[in-house]
Amino acid sequence: MKTHLSLSALVAVCLLSLASCGSQKATDPTEAKIDSLLTQMTLDEKIGQMNQLTGMGISDDMKQQIKEGKVGSILNEVDVNIINELQRVAVEESRLHIPLIFGRDVIHGYKTIFPIPLGQAASWNTQLAEEGARIAAQEAASVGIRWTFAPMVDVSRDPRWGRIAESCGEDPYMNAEFGAAMVRGFQGKNLSDKTSMAACAKHFAGYGASESGKDYNTTWIPETQLRDVYLPSFKAAVDAGVATFMCSFNDINGMPSSGNKHLNRDILRQEWQFDGMLVSDWGSIDQMISQGVCATPKEAAQKGLEAGVDMDMMGLSYISQLKNLVQEGTVSEKMIDESVRNILRLKFRLGLFDQPYTDVTKANDFYRPESLEAAKLAAIESAVLLKNNGILPLDNRYKTVAVVGPLADAALEQFGTWSFDAEPDRAITPLKAITDTYGKQYKIIGEPALTFSRDSNITHINQAVAAARKADVVLVFAGEEAILSGEAHCRADISLPGLQNELMTALKATGKPIVLVVMAGRPLTIEKQIAQSEAVLFAFHGGSMAGPALADLIFGKAVPSGKLPVTFPRMVGQVPVYYAHNNTGRPPSNIVTIDKIPVGVFQTSLGNTSFHLDAGDKPMYPFGYGLSYSTFEYSKVTLSSNKLNKDGKLTAQCTIKNTGRYDAKEVVQFYVRDLVASLSRPVRELKGFDKVFLKAGESKTVKFEIDASQLGFWHEDNTYYAEPGEFHIWISKDSQSGEPVTFKLLADNNKK
Ligand code: BGC
Repeated sequence: MKTHLSLSALVAVCLLSLASCGSQKATDPTEAKIDSLLTQMTLDEKIGQMNQLTGMGISDDMKQQIKEGKVGSILNEVDVNIINELQRVAVEESRLHIPLIFGRDVIHGYKTIFPIPLGQAASWNTQLAEEGARIAAQEAASVGIRWTFAPMVDVSRDPRWGRIAESCGEDPYMNAEFGAAMVRGFQGKNLSDKTSMAACAKHFAGYGASESGKDYNTTWIPETQLRDVYLPSFKAAVDAGVATFMCSFNDINGMPSSGNKHLNRDILRQEWQFDGMLVSDWGSIDQMISQGVCATPKEAAQKGLEAGVDMDMMGLSYISQLKNLVQEGTVSEKMIDESVRNILRLKFRLGLFDQPYTDVTKANDFYRPESLEAAKLAAIESAVLLKNNGILPLDNRYKTVAVVGPLADAALEQFGTWSFDAEPDRAITPLKAITDTYGKQYKIIGEPALTFSRDSNITHINQAVAAARKADVVLVFAGEEAILSGEAHCRADISLPGLQNELMTALKATGKPIVLVVMAGRPLTIEKQIAQSEAVLFAFHGGSMAGPALADLIFGKAVPSGKLPVTFPRMVGQVPVYYAHNNTGRPPSNIVTIDKIPVGVFQTSLGNTSFHLDAGDKPMYPFGYGLSYSTFEYSKVTLSSNKLNKDGKLTAQCTIKNTGRYDAKEVVQFYVRDLVASLSRPVRELKGFDKVFLKAGESKTVKFEIDASQLGFWHEDNTYYAEPGEFHIWISKDSQSGEPVTFKLLADNNKK
């Protein structure tokens, strides 16, 4: 007996909602307007709507194409006057006056830059992410950008992959929660509001599974894993009302996403009832030729259309091939109409037909004081304290502070990836913030030593050593430049690049205490540097206000509260390493590392269990890990019942006490495990979290509710349901600590 919603039930639900949706649409005034436009449009004009070009300023050629109705959208134009002029051509000179939509990658801020998404996820504060997206939308929309290609909700379990920086980390639930928050932020209360941007859930789907963490690579994902791990964040975006979706570059099991009917039609449109617009990724329809599933642009256009891709981003296939394909009867005009309908619906929803222009008197509304303050708060909450031997926060025990390292004063680098529109002179670096804010109380000696993270020029290391000798403490700002993460910027070796390792070793030799602050786009393998440091703060790329945020954290005006949204490996060879793995049949025990193996010992004398001889079985830091200047005590978890009915709910609660000296926030995490099921299940799965503020000495009880729908998983027959039996629950400070309590999910006795 199983508690489950069967596939037939799912289909019935879908058909019912399709039917009601259909009748709703028939009476919807927007749909009527779309119908009317569609009847007036020529085939060329329809195909033109499906064409997205990159902005190239105002050229006669671009104007002509717009006038002829050959362009539906432009990406990457950011000059409000050009945007208005191109829009004027579209709405005043084209035959049907259909407005353009202008898109841009506004990923973690437009001018006021927030931490990279991976950093935002480390805050475990979705409210901050929502506010960040709202501010990004307000700034970008002020110049006429009404569509952003964010949030990226790709579950990312490989730190080699440069795009992990753009993701909310390794966990499906985290990506779902943060993705939905960002959608709400970008889109605001009403999409037609002039400060709203259409969001775009990308990259659909499985892109984070790119083999060997190399961008644009192939993926192999069984349907059950696709649905359990990679799709929930996209479904959450749909539920949050996301206006658009973008295809991913990768193929899944051989089928590129831009040609994947199963993903785009069966799942996105049929199962999830998505009525927004689906755009390809840059040239991803054409790229099906390189991927070897299409021989010609014509085949690519056909495959893309049949797979339900509405708009061709910077490819030539649709604009050059679709007309022929319709005229020769290979594809139906009805399919084209469907796509155009989705595109026009988006333009109506954004209010572009009524208000196509951007008010230039209100343009360039950037850097409001409250926006900078929000960015600072986000940077504060994004930093994760990995280690602290009591040195932080710095106080008057330390009179002279050396500020060293290539990221100490590197405005451009602290923005991180996808900061096309950021202005370095509007960023405040750590060196500047420390000098400006704490320069009177402390003597600050700034000596970056390396001019950029990959710098291999040894000349200035001695100056840093000299500075360290004069100081009571050395703050080292190390990490990666922005260019080392993000799209197409993958690394096989994720240690500190350049001479940073040597710099750390030279500084360590001075005997002065080191506080290491890492600014990077991904987890790094820094075990040795952690050992060399008294404290380590991992700040990701923190954006415009990274400097003031870090200064306040270091000197104790703010208390760290971030926790890792992704597992940190000790060595890159451990990858993939993530907390929610299935259990091995031979869990690790008696770990004997390579240096401890006696010479000539008999093969089986070490035991046969699952671990690496050189790395053991543990990562450097687990998912969810992070320290505070305070300490927290967790009570034993209690449950409202130790049995859960299929239609019931169960509450788990735990009292958290701030046992330290600082008022501080703590991220409380809620995990479950299905102990025995028909398929092996992860050793833990995150099902909730709460970030609570506790004054020193204060206690709060945190509750999490769970029901059977959250305990299920996808089965090989494509059904989702929870299986009865024993489950574990943890309320804990990270994914490895805490004591589990047990409850039983009861069988569905009514089910035959
Ligand atoms: C990226 C997308 C991005 C698009 C437009 C592509 O190369 O994969 O994430 O939105 O370019 O810039």
